[in-house]
Amino acid sequence: MAAILIIPGCKKEIKSDNPFLNEWDTPFGVPPFEQIMAKHYMPAYLKGFEEQKEEIKAVINNPKEPDFQNTIKMLAYSGDLLSKVGRVFGALNSAHTNDSLQAISREIAPIAAKHRDDINLNDTLFQRVKSVYDNRDKFTLTDEEKKLLEDTYKDFVRSGAALSPGDKNKLRAINEELSKLQVQFGQNLLAETNGYKLVIEKKEDLSGLPEGVIAQAAAMAKSLKMDGKWVFTLQVPSMTPFLQYSDRRDLREKLFTGYFMKGDNDNEFDNKAIIARIANLRTERSKLLGYESFADYALERNMAKTPEKVSEFLGQVWAAATPVAKAEAAAQQELIDREGGKFKLAPWDWWYYTEKIKKEKYDLDDEITRPYFKIDNVMEGMFYVANRLYGLEFTKRTDIPKYHPDVNTFEVKRDGKHVGILMIDNYPRPSKRGGAWCGTYRSQRRDIKGKMIYPVVTMVTNSTLPSTDKPSLLTSLEAETLFHEFGHALNNLLSNITYPGSSVPRDFVELPSQIMEHWVLEPEVLKVYAKHYQTGEIIPTEIVEKLDKSSKFNQGFITVEYLAASLLDMEYHALTEPVELNIREFENKAMEKYGLIPEIKPRYRSTYFNHIWGGGYSAGYYSYIWCEILDADAFNAFRETGDIFNKEVASKFEKEILSRGGTKDPLEMYIAFRGKEPGIDALLENRGLK
Ligand SMILES: [Zn+2]
Repeated sequence: MAAILIIPGCKKEIKSDNPFLNEWDTPFGVPPFEQIMAKHYMPAYLKGFEEQKEEIKAVINNPKEPDFQNTIKMLAYSGDLLSKVGRVFGALNSAHTNDSLQAISREIAPIAAKHRDDINLNDTLFQRVKSVYDNRDKFTLTDEEKKLLEDTYKDFVRSGAALSPGDKNKLRAINEELSKLQVQFGQNLLAETNGYKLVIEKKEDLSGLPEGVIAQAAAMAKSLKMDGKWVFTLQVPSMTPFLQYSDRRDLREKLFTGYFMKGDNDNEFDNKAIIARIANLRTERSKLLGYESFADYALERNMAKTPEKVSEFLGQVWAAATPVAKAEAAAQQELIDREGGKFKLAPWDWWYYTEKIKKEKYDLDDEITRPYFKIDNVMEGMFYVANRLYGLEFTKRTDIPKYHPDVNTFEVKRDGKHVGILMIDNYPRPSKRGGAWCGTYRSQRRDIKGKMIYPVVTMVTNSTLPSTDKPSLLTSLEAETLFHEFGHALNNLLSNITYPGSSVPRDFVELPSQIMEHWVLEPEVLKVYAKHYQTGEIIPTEIVEKLDKSSKFNQGFITVEYLAASLLDMEYHALTEPVELNIREFENKAMEKYGLIPEIKPRYRSTYFNHIWGGGYSAGYYSYIWCEILDADAFNAFRETGDIFNKEVASKFEKEILSRGGTKDPLEMYIAFRGKEPGIDALLENRGLK
């Protein structure tokens, strides 16, 4: 009797001291962050590799004829433990890293690359996948299954499964080297960002800076044990206000130079040799796989399909935006001359004079609007929009493990039913990389028996920090960034798919995020959340009108600096042969070719362009503006009904786009929602470039 009782319970009773090897009994199964220590990752990764190897072996050794169920489905469900540890590690290594995590990431990258290659280049496995694919018409499959089969097959081919054994070995060596270089790039960048500080010791050197900005810089100095001084960093919320308001041109130049020289200082953290090697390895890899260039390879699976299509599109917007940017530069030069400044406008002057002209023209600057954009209120605003559109409700939970005190966690429900968990982590710190992003600790899917698995979503930003006497008060741009990442979060939360592992193409995934930006400054939405942090007064109509009028201001600059980075990305990835790359020269020549004006630097210079060297936007940085065609047109679908909260349009958007993840062709999804393909007009009009 006793033995019978013990045996079934036995497996569950034994708890490992490694939390990754246990079932998580936390609320909603979120990662037990306080139990996870650096020493747990490596053993969990190794166990994860081993488990997936066993799962793959079982697929290969299945004596039955290959079919969807015994091959494609089993593959999709393999690697559960690996995904469990990989997601936590990846998220924390970006949002809250330290020396131990960085060391692990250097160690794990080549092992993971080898593991992926062991699967992707396994010929027996590929032959099974190919057999299912070749016989696809004989199986009865759902649309999602058809797409999964096609994607799985193509992923194998694109990973080199059809290459000769000799070429497979070359590919393995390239992948291993690339994985190491990409990690090194990101670690150098973090070191360079944290390594620079502009320290101000005399009060008169703060001339022009608003009180709130000074208080922030004082708080930063204090946190660095430099009481009584003021510190500005290369983090955007610290740097941008300095560039906007500091009257000290020499100091603006100093700080901005610190920024645009990141990774290009010929020191131990220099990224030039690394990116030259990455670019060449990518070209070599693409050639090996039968593509002209890396761009051809990368774009094949995107909505745009070819580099030519991307170039043509970027060219159209570039032609519309460049004259506008030139006119903006001329207006600034005129102001400089008027003020008796005897110098030519330089890149570090742009924010300062833009701010002045904006003040002159619209009587508006960030410091006027900040009090109405308290971060908690902005989040309430985005929750309100999600509630009006999709009926979602957000409840703050304090009983859920977190990895840092700054994290706020919400349970998301609809009609009283659980939808998912959303963690929001908003403030910059040295352990966090720059920028803003959204990811998942667990993505929505059904388990192998068909039971729903609910998503655990995380969004991370680098927003203005609170100071000693003020809460976090955002610029309207920062509020927009929150809405943007929240759009990605909604895409993850409202996902309703069956199989794990589907991915949305880069040049479509920004539609759900960017469409959310349209609601942030809508008067109807501002009325709900934009309340003065001290008085509770709703943002005056007069300011809302000014915000609206100024929304097309400086768009020449914003568009051109973005496009310059996109073009740079495409130039590196259009290489058809490995070449000797002098990075500074390559960058200058590329920008000269398109005629970038010297007063503007690309939004990212090569040596800190994490999107393309470290992140997943290689030959894909164009995606943001590409998706703007879609989001501008999709938002018009709401506008045209006269109701920006139109329930019918919202539920169609959810059904045809948000819920589907990557389970359908993007253009087909879009047409199912809108009934037609979008044109470029709405984009140009929104940016005032028409
Ligand atoms: Zn995004």
